[in-house]
Amino acid sequence: MNRTGKQNERQAGKQNRRRPEKRDGQNICVNQKRCGSCRYLSLTYEEQLARKEEAVRRALGKGLVERVMPVIGMEDPYHYRNKVTAVFARDRKGNPISGVYEGGTHHVLPVEECLIEDALADRIIGTIRGMLKSFKIWIYDEDTRQGLLRYVLVRRGFSTGQVMVVLVTASPVFPSKRNFVKALLQAHPEITTVVQNINPRTDSLILGERQQVLYGTGYIEDVLCGRTFRISPSSFYQINPVQTQKLYEKAVRLARLTGKERVIDAYCGIGTIGLVAASRAGSVLSIELNPDAVRDAITNAKRNGIGNVRFYRADAGEFLTGMAARGEKADVLFMDPPRSGSTEAFMKSAAALGPERIVYISCNPETLGRDLRVFSRLGYQAGEVWPVDMFPWTESCEAVVLLSRKDIDS
Ligand code: SAH
Repeated sequence: MNRTGKQNERQAGKQNRRRPEKRDGQNICVNQKRCGSCRYLSLTYEEQLARKEEAVRRALGKGLVERVMPVIGMEDPYHYRNKVTAVFARDRKGNPISGVYEGGTHHVLPVEECLIEDALADRIIGTIRGMLKSFKIWIYDEDTRQGLLRYVLVRRGFSTGQVMVVLVTASPVFPSKRNFVKALLQAHPEITTVVQNINPRTDSLILGERQQVLYGTGYIEDVLCGRTFRISPSSFYQINPVQTQKLYEKAVRLARLTGKERVIDAYCGIGTIGLVAASRAGSVLSIELNPDAVRDAITNAKRNGIGNVRFYRADAGEFLTGMAARGEKADVLFMDPPRSGSTEAFMKSAAALGPERIVYISCNPETLGRDLRVFSRLGYQAGEVWPVDMFPWTESCEAVVLLSRKDIDS
């Protein structure tokens, strides 16, 4: 763990001297303005890392944390997205196009390839687009609500090589689907599973509730920090696994586990952080609201032979309030809430459980700052903050913070 931590620090230093736009001379994207996702494309990678570090520093304010550490950057900050979603439509001439909605509109911007998306996923989407005519598959039209194919989602396990293709259709009737899948597999033998997801809804959610496995197991696996995680089409999974591994390793290192601790992993998703920490803890109690994610988490614990983790499907705030009312205690708390941050109820109860250390993972420096102020009032001092660049070329920045109980510190 320590060795990895030091490697990361060195890596961040190395990256701060590197100018990737000179290395390949082409980090310019034709869709940059209309797509709107990569707002930092006019900067060097070094400059954007500095901006992200500064944004974290600014959001957290003076005196709130002891030290903002150098941002942990990515060695090769391209094609890092393991999940690509393409919306299908037709251009004015009626030809199939696929890509993304232009910022704030329902106009589809065609995307052939993308600097941050997995290149194989983009090629598979292109192949599917090229097959539609000969298989007489009609693209869904949002206005008339006619047609079949709406979206294609490709997910790739970077460390296992497994590839999942999800064909999102408006209705279950998919003529000649067998031959379609056969031809797709012939063109891309890398594909390990194909799923048809049926989404007849008119809102903006991509996946519907029903699905049918057309080929393979219906899920892929990926390996993070030596654990294997099963990922179903609708499960949340971090989109940049290379940086996620660094983030989790940093989080677990900050927790300084000795093998005896009672650990809580709140907002646990498919269980990743708790399952990575489990071998260094006495026991782990993990809490997550989404029932599908909890099901995946339980499977993942079994899959990795980890017996000292228990999962609870609950609102994390309510669950901790119950624990605090029963007078329970915990030694270490990991928390990884959504962008909106945590709640007063959660933080109050967390403090009542009296953990010596809290490791807070956040994808939004603004709500992180707000929550650290609450924790400070509750007797927890934020020490090191490590910004981690999970989304190169975009403005987003992740950070992991260690908080310690003030009475123990002093
Ligand atoms: N730690 C996980 C997931 C982080 S995303 C990982 O690294 O992959 C945040 C998670 O919090 C999501 O899985 C979301 O479903 C869950 N969540 C959102 N609100 C919640 C609440 N009130 N109580 C418990 N979990 C919640």
